[in-house]
Amino acid sequence: MTVELICVGTELLLGNIVNTNAAFLAEQCAGLGLSCYFQTVVGDNGERLRMVLKQASERSDIVILCGGLGPTEDDLTKETAAELFGRRLVEDSHSRRLIEDFFKNRGIKPTENNWKQALIPEGAIVLDNANGTAPGLILEEKNGKVILLPGPPNELIPMFHESVAPYLKKCAPGVIASRTVKICGIGESSVETTIRDLIDKQTNPTIATYAKTGEVHVRVTAQAESEKAAEKLLRPTVKELKSRFGADIYSAEEDMTLEKAVIGILHAFGMTVTCAESCTGGMVSSRLINVPGASDVYKSGVVTYSNKAKRRLLGVKKITLQKYGAVSPQVAEEMAKGALLLGRADVSLAVTGIAGPDGGTELKPVGLVYIACNVRGNVKVEEYHFNGNRAKIREAASVAALTLLRSHVLACSTAASGGKKKK
Ligand code: ATP
Repeated sequence: MTVELICVGTELLLGNIVNTNAAFLAEQCAGLGLSCYFQTVVGDNGERLRMVLKQASERSDIVILCGGLGPTEDDLTKETAAELFGRRLVEDSHSRRLIEDFFKNRGIKPTENNWKQALIPEGAIVLDNANGTAPGLILEEKNGKVILLPGPPNELIPMFHESVAPYLKKCAPGVIASRTVKICGIGESSVETTIRDLIDKQTNPTIATYAKTGEVHVRVTAQAESEKAAEKLLRPTVKELKSRFGADIYSAEEDMTLEKAVIGILHAFGMTVTCAESCTGGMVSSRLINVPGASDVYKSGVVTYSNKAKRRLLGVKKITLQKYGAVSPQVAEEMAKGALLLGRADVSLAVTGIAGPDGGTELKPVGLVYIACNVRGNVKVEEYHFNGNRAKIREAASVAALTLLRSHVLACSTAASGGKKKK
């Protein structure tokens, strides 16, 4: 089945907002095994919207529109769709009640135009909006489905997960199941090269790679008559990916994140961790603390941005700073050693780097980062060169730090215990 996206809004056309809904919807649809060949952005203009919707509904099985469902004059999506498909707009009492409740719960008086959002094209399936007033709508036409979603991502994303994805799964001939294999520490091109042969001969299941900061996700999607049959189709490919990427895979579970995996590993080996951060300014600690249950393994963290702080809090030697500079493998190593003593933990992680835009030299350019991980005295220091602006470099450094922490703890613990985890 094919799906086509139409994002409505003059703000999108002018570049005032980034079209994150298109990226979200495209990724979700690919995960459901739908083929997306066209995406369009169109302004708040009834005639032009009509034109693209007509064309999309003629060439694709499913059209998803987002935006323009609001109460104001320039919100035209629903009206245009209703007119194109020859449906009257009628009031939906259920939606009206939800709009009433929405305003009552917030102690706000609705304005007259808010009731416009209770009007739906006759016969449409209504999708409740738990986070706003515009309901989503599905029009089941002879030639395909047309799905209308609100523009704000905090309304669209939950609505997609709660109502649209289950609906699309039901529409698909058979069942669609997918697994995401999450890889850290290898770039996307290297991942692609490793599985080029699998990608080239993919049919069912399909394989798609998604590059994230410091991670690559490989999504495997199968279509079959039943859940069981789809799972059976997925299994050999997932197994093959596991054998090709080995320990570089941190999870094949949908809701697993790298930081969750790191906390899980520390838990499994009965280890505590402490962080000393310079250019990441606490980002690594923040990601770890974001994981529920982190308190069992995360002990403390310090941000040692200045040389003085590195010396005073972590005991980095003056001579090391003078001889090698603050951004050096030697300083990263001493930071990690000092952090281990300060935090009285089993594992320490230290990050020092140049996030830019200033401060780079020919020998030490912007993006140069050293990360050290000390596991009970066993130290590993890595050098990285990241691209992008300050925010991007800091984010990439924090992901790399978590990746190094994971791999070094695994390597040290597996070596020490002969592969056995603590019960
Ligand atoms: P509302 O009920 O809030 O009026 P709507 O369905 O009419 O929602 P729009 O008015 O088109 O949606 O957009 C509302 C806001 O949602 C925009 O100002 C923008 O912040 C966000 N938004 C809309 N479309 C997108 C998009 N494609 N990607 C990311 N954000 C978007």
